[in-house]
Amino acid sequence: MKATTGAISDDAKNMIMFMIGRIRLWIIAASVVSLAALSAVSWLSYRNTKELIAANQRLARAHKMIEDLAALHVLLDDAETSCRDYALSGRHESLKPYEAALAQLDVTMQVLRRDLAADPNRSRQFQELEPVVNARLETMKELVQTRSAGGLEAAVRVLQSDRDKKLTDEIRQWISIVQAEERNDLLDRERESRERARNTIRTVGVTCLLGIVLLLSASLVIVRLNRQSESDHIALQNAERVQRTILNSAAYSMISTDKAGLILTVNAAAEKWLQYRSGELTGSSILRLHEAAELQSRGVQLTRAMGMPVAGDYHALVTKAGYGVADTFECTYVRKDGTRFPISLSVTALRTGGNDLAGYLMIATDLSEQRAVEKMKDEFVSVVSHELRTPLTSIKGALGLLVGGVTGPLPPKAGEMAQIALSNSDRLSRLVDDILDLQRIESGRITVDMRLCDVPALMKESAESVRLVAEGEGLTVAVSPCPGSIKADQERLVQALVNLLGNAIKFSPRGGRIEFAAECSGRSVVFRVEDNGRGIPKDKLETIFERFQQVDASDAREKGGTGLGLAIVRSIVQQHGGRVWAESELGRGSTFYLQLPLPESESAG
Ligand code: ADP
Repeated sequence: MKATTGAISDDAKNMIMFMIGRIRLWIIAASVVSLAALSAVSWLSYRNTKELIAANQRLARAHKMIEDLAALHVLLDDAETSCRDYALSGRHESLKPYEAALAQLDVTMQVLRRDLAADPNRSRQFQELEPVVNARLETMKELVQTRSAGGLEAAVRVLQSDRDKKLTDEIRQWISIVQAEERNDLLDRERESRERARNTIRTVGVTCLLGIVLLLSASLVIVRLNRQSESDHIALQNAERVQRTILNSAAYSMISTDKAGLILTVNAAAEKWLQYRSGELTGSSILRLHEAAELQSRGVQLTRAMGMPVAGDYHALVTKAGYGVADTFECTYVRKDGTRFPISLSVTALRTGGNDLAGYLMIATDLSEQRAVEKMKDEFVSVVSHELRTPLTSIKGALGLLVGGVTGPLPPKAGEMAQIALSNSDRLSRLVDDILDLQRIESGRITVDMRLCDVPALMKESAESVRLVAEGEGLTVAVSPCPGSIKADQERLVQALVNLLGNAIKFSPRGGRIEFAAECSGRSVVFRVEDNGRGIPKDKLETIFERFQQVDASDAREKGGTGLGLAIVRSIVQQHGGRVWAESELGRGSTFYLQLPLPESESAG
């Protein structure tokens, strides 16, 4: 359709939306996994870096402790050497290193105490060392005092005692043990730190690799999906192009509207037939293509048939289709120049995937040619029938005179022949009458003269028309009217009822009974003609209302029928806005119903 050129159909849109959805899903999944990997790497790096810093701090502490212990060792050595020099030389300058070492020793001890406090084991060991160091300092002090008070000999005696040596050895041993332990510990920690650094590098490397692989595969999938979506899009566009070509080359007018009857799309045939360009129609109401009076009367008709109010505007076109009922009917399209043409219009509701009403599709076939042919045929039938009627009347008259003996008595054989010729010319003239009748009703040349008619009077007149024939067949016609009046063309309606009664008489056994009743109920009156004749097969109950349709091919011959009676009944009833149908049971009889609407005042009462 022109209006859909370049646009993408619902299917195509859905497919593209689906592909976009899949791509989006992939991007989200890849992002989430990458983010998770990044978070894991960050957390691992943070944890390992933190541990490395802690290990480095511990290493630095161990180094410092070893240095402090070495310093303690040196200070004690310096103090001892200085004291010994003084003891042997008696020179006061020799005491200077001792005094300097003493001053520094205090600080060093304090530092060691503080640093070792973090390690309870070392702290306890240091507490054991402190009295030994103090004792050694005390002995140095005593040596100095002894030298200054008692001279060289007293000092040498003190020097020769091994008490100082023992203390010094104890201190040295303590320092070297602790230093050795710290060194070993240091080596272990260094190894541990190296291992941890290696682990960190390995973890970060593996995770980065994983992230890269993931990103690469995500990009690959996205590229593939994109490619697929592109090819799907192209395929859908091609399918749409083909669809458009089919729509535009169709010999039907196709117009789609929205829910409110505004035209959305128009195909090439519709443009050509209606003499509009697609752009002139889209957006405007579908009503501009229809006859207002026609829509009004269809609205009234649907209101009656559906038992609900149907407005005589675009609702008259779409209401039935909106309820999911297949709706095909004949109406008129109005061209741009105001000329009209008959169409058969098929309306379908368009629904979305969610089954919501989206609009309507109106497919029309042009009936102009068909109507022209029908008209020609009807005119032909009419002319031929008229031309047949005149000679037939004189044949019938002449034969009647012959059979009636006006020309003298006929030999028995000739009389029989003349009788056959008369009854067949009767049948032929009935057939001609019926054809002319039907043709006149259907061509609309006979307009119904609607007047208020009394139902019992109508029924009496109809029953009276067939009384003699019925009596001749030994049949009873039981009439049960209902009080009321209907709006009808009395002559035509009596013709329809007489047709039904005539059939009942024709197909009833001798001595049978025919019920001719009426029921005035609600908004309509229903006439019922019931016989107890041979009945009608179920599959023929509809077709017998068509022209020249008979249950049995011999009916025309044996019962003198034309096969046009019920077609005439249906045409008359339709002209009155009513309907006719039959029910039957083979071998038991048939019932024909003729339903007509009651006038407003009558139905209200
Ligand atoms: P016809 O002139 O042949 O009666 P109709 O159109 O009136 O034409 O009827 C068509 C056919 O329907 C009849 O030929 C007959 O086969 C069948 N038919 C009509 N009415 C009855 C009935 N009351 N009982 C049985 N068959 C019937």
